Amino acid sequence: MSDDNIGKKVQDAEQIGTEKVGDKEIPILKPEVYVKIYCSNCNAEVDDEEKATGNCNDCGKPWAESKAKDVTIRVVKMPGTFGEGGEL
Ligand SMILES: [Zn+2]
Repeated sequence: MSDDNIGKKVQDAEQIGTEKVGDKEIPILKPEVYVKIYCSNCNAEVDDEEKATGNCNDCGKPWAESKAKDVTIRVVKMPGTFGEGGEL
């Protein structure tokens, strides 16, 4: 699995708190969010350079006029935060 084809990361995964469930602390996580922007004129993906200029390099038109967004949300489990018990 490659991270390259799901877009640019706009939010990092982060633990924002814990919730007590029974006698266990369950971490509350913010997911990773990736966003991909497409030019609505030619459907090419808008890269960083094109984001800076506002113009699509593929068709030469401004991509921002009616952009389409593809948002990917990925939930990341923090390692070592879940114990399954049974260690007594
Ligand atoms: Zn275009």
